[in-house]
Amino acid sequence: MSEPDLPVPEPTEVDEQRALEFIRIKEDTALKGRPEGDQRCDNCHFYLETSEDISYCWHDKLEIMVGGEWWCDRWEEVGVPDDEPSAEDRQTGMKLKFELVEDQQWVNEPKFGEKCDECLFYLNPDDSVSYCWHPKLRVGVGHDHWCQWWEAAPDSETGAF
Ligand code: SF4
Ligand code: SF4
Repeated sequence: MSEPDLPVPEPTEVDEQRALEFIRIKEDTALKGRPEGDQRCDNCHFYLETSEDISYCWHDKLEIMVGGEWWCDRWEEVGVPDDEPSAEDRQTGMKLKFELVEDQQWVNEPKFGEKCDECLFYLNPDDSVSYCWHPKLRVGVGHDHWCQWWEAAPDSETGAF
């Protein structure tokens, strides 16, 4: 006898708020999961750790984890603005790196033929960056990223609130 189908998990109210925050940032800054010419997050002034594939963006309009190949319209050449990340920015970036990237094995490339825009938890499969409502992440991720919680999206629409 075959196993009964498990219920498909649903996003919560927390996800609704966080997804809206991410969408607001994305729309305000034209954030996308692909470079703009030679400009990309990992050669931007505000990308905290240039040696990492995913890092904290300390620009005050973003303050989120971003992929190295992403881009937004606040891009600045390294060293051109005369400000630096504060101690608090560095602390937040390190905390998110350990809790999200390392603990969840979040990478900015597909793995095992699986990627975020084919995952149940990726809110909008048509966007190059979108909100991931898996309870261990609850952040914006890239269309071609992956983490250990990947689960195939059903054929029907995924993640609509
Ligand atoms: S300011 Fe924009 S381009 Fe620069 S790291 Fe942040 S998200 Fe990327
Ligand atoms: S659960 Fe993991 S694989 Fe799925 S969308 Fe979120 S980050 Fe991507």
